[in-house]
Amino acid sequence: MRNIKYIVVHCTATQPTATVEAIKKYWKGVRKWDKPGYHYLILRDGEIVQLLEEKEISYGAYGHNHDCIHIAYIGGIDKEGKPVDNRSARQIHAMFDKLVELSNRYRSAEILGHRDFPDVNKACPSFDVKEWLKNYEPEFKQAA
Ligand SMILES: [Zn+2]
Repeated sequence: MRNIKYIVVHCTATQPTATVEAIKKYWKGVRKWDKPGYHYLILRDGEIVQLLEEKEISYGAYGHNHDCIHIAYIGGIDKEGKPVDNRSARQIHAMFDKLVELSNRYRSAEILGHRDFPDVNKACPSFDVKEWLKNYEPEFKQAA
């Protein structure tokens, strides 16, 4: 079993309308990756698609992948290509629940955003993961 040290949150750095197929095509065709970039992808409607088994290594964060689980929401940039947190309410809820579930299984793993690695010069996932987790109130789930 892999020793998971980090649960890493990403955005796909696409328009929120991007499809799973288009994202997979990009990884294969442009990046030449033989495996997906993330283990889990959160769709606009809150559905979570597993792209890779957790025991497999994916390509989400260069140099860190061996001890990471990667989870991404579709979106993260605006029409001009600038970073923006454009998660839908359903994506936010699904992300929170998934992070709770993962951290229950990987109890010593730290949850962080891709950009929180010191050697990363990206905006991904376009919001401050630790601040969000600190302030998120799951009891308001039904309201949104
Ligand atoms: Zn990322």
